[in-house]
Amino acid sequence: MSNCAIVGINWGDEGKGRIVDYLTSNCDYVVRFQGGGNAGHTVINEKGKFALHLLPSGVFRPGVVNILGNGVALDPENLLNEIDIVKSKGVYIGPDNLKISDRASILFPWHRLMDELEENRLADKKYGSTKQGIAPFYSDKSIKKTILAGEVFYPDEMEKHLDSILEWANLKLTGIYNAVPITKDQLNRWIENYLNPIKGYICNTGSLLKTAQQNNKSIILEAQLGSLRDLDYGIYPYTTSANTIVSYAPIGSGFPGIRIDETVGVVKAYSTCVGEGPFVCEMTGDEAEKLRQAGGEYGAKTGRPRRVGPLDIVATKYGIEMQNATSIAFTKLDVLSYMEEIPVCTHYSYKGSVTDEFPFPAVLDQCSPVIEYAKGWNCDISKARKWEDLPQEAKDYVIMVENKINCHIKYISVGPERDSIITRI
Ligand code: GDP
Repeated sequence: MSNCAIVGINWGDEGKGRIVDYLTSNCDYVVRFQGGGNAGHTVINEKGKFALHLLPSGVFRPGVVNILGNGVALDPENLLNEIDIVKSKGVYIGPDNLKISDRASILFPWHRLMDELEENRLADKKYGSTKQGIAPFYSDKSIKKTILAGEVFYPDEMEKHLDSILEWANLKLTGIYNAVPITKDQLNRWIENYLNPIKGYICNTGSLLKTAQQNNKSIILEAQLGSLRDLDYGIYPYTTSANTIVSYAPIGSGFPGIRIDETVGVVKAYSTCVGEGPFVCEMTGDEAEKLRQAGGEYGAKTGRPRRVGPLDIVATKYGIEMQNATSIAFTKLDVLSYMEEIPVCTHYSYKGSVTDEFPFPAVLDQCSPVIEYAKGWNCDISKARKWEDLPQEAKDYVIMVENKINCHIKYISVGPERDSIITRI
């Protein structure tokens, strides 16, 4: 297999984890290139059901090397917990199949604390953060107020560096939030308990990937969230604080020269959105509750009910363009099986005119959805494994979507299990 990026096209939770897990049968490396423990990539396989937050979704395949690139928000505390949980279900994780970039920046406990304090300060204007410290972490990374994972190999230099970082963190904690400062003892204990134990995984992953590419190994680049949450191209300020789009993958992977042959954009057969912010196609009431229940739409990290709506063609087309996707994995088609008629948001109406262009974020909440209906199939499709197994109405729905988004739908998933997938050539 050639190198491939797997990215979200919409607001996240499209089912990227299960697509990565599926495609790893044929790959050598999986690299998470951005985001942090706020991800919730659900993977179901013979070992059980897992919600991966930081670990790349290739950890279940023997022989696959998993890399946390320099673009991730490396939270050693959450990572260690996650490794323990995954290992307790009989999955092998060791320094030979998990590698952490020595250039990944460290997310400290005060980042999580500041995330929470800031959401509390914002009260009814909050962003709906998962409180995993992502926004304070990325802002500190940008202004160079954190450390690189590889500094752990230079303890004297690291200690000096940490003194000035701690001073900065405490200025923010006490000055902005009137919170209790963190002591050097507390920080040292945290380093002992959480940073030192991951030392064995930290290495120069850039040179590893460079060699892998020279040797024609195949690499999957795994993104978190989706186009509409991209810091630069998403629905700012209701974005995450990192770039979720594929253009960032070379930077965040650790090897800027990485080749990306294919970009698979993951799109769910309907829409969901977690947290605050504009969501033009949002459904409410009984209709929404039915879809939420059918799709099990509750956050993998927080358990929060997800906002739901029909497939949004306007947002999806925009998401595909931002990702420059070469093909689509269309997930959760089975969830729509209960519907007599399937609503699809084909356009937005803004100030009396109808458009299929995704609007500027500031006016999104003034838009309303234009809905068309497709015929439902009203039968169980979860056992379909070939295109021919699908009822005609389901095929028609897929083809209609493909035509509207103008991108080839290569994979269709009809259930959460590893093999519940149809590949179309
Ligand atoms: P990710 O963050 O993009 O990996 O997506 P999530 O894991 O947050 O959400 C996807 C959810 O849908 C998970 O619970 C998956 O097990 C489930 N899922 C994925 N594909 C399918 C599918 O085709 N059908 C059904 N019914 N569930 C699916």
